[in-house]
Amino acid sequence: MISYKWQRGFLLKVLYPLFMFIGAFVKKKKEALQGLVIRLNNKLVVKERPRTRRLLVLLPHCLQVDECKIRLTHNIYNCERCGKCEIKDLINIADRNKLELFVATGGNLARRIVSEVNPEAVVAVACENDLSSGIADTYPLPVFGIPNERPFGPCLNTRVDLKKVEEAIELLSNGAS
Ligand code: SF4
Repeated sequence: MISYKWQRGFLLKVLYPLFMFIGAFVKKKKEALQGLVIRLNNKLVVKERPRTRRLLVLLPHCLQVDECKIRLTHNIYNCERCGKCEIKDLINIADRNKLELFVATGGNLARRIVSEVNPEAVVAVACENDLSSGIADTYPLPVFGIPNERPFGPCLNTRVDLKKVEEAIELLSNGAS
């Protein structure tokens, strides 16, 4: 049987570019196709079960509420944990699980953080567009993607389902020593 890693490679390096080619012509479907790739990728990542303690959690800058002027990109722990946005909760989740947590302002910085931290697996939150391209670019690194929620539109005061983040961390690190 073809390994889950190779199946992920086929999804991310063959199907994903094909879907994005289709999406270039059928723009309304593009995000749905990206979401499909993320879900399929996640299923395969879970089947691979990296079970690692070298797990990186990567967050988009837009989770920080826009009225907060604290700079988080170099150090998320600058957050004063006032509770006005989910950054506080996400720091607590990372602390409980003793994980590295970073905020990235875009795909390039996210890729740089991945290359500097050199994790064995990643839990990443972002929009479907950034998430799917980042997951494909960093293959074969297993990345579990969680699309953010955008009640105010793209890139502004976005949110994430914290339960999904905790579940993903548990799935990728459970049993790791
Ligand atoms: S929890 Fe408060 S201090 Fe931290 S990033 Fe959000 S608004 Fe800023």
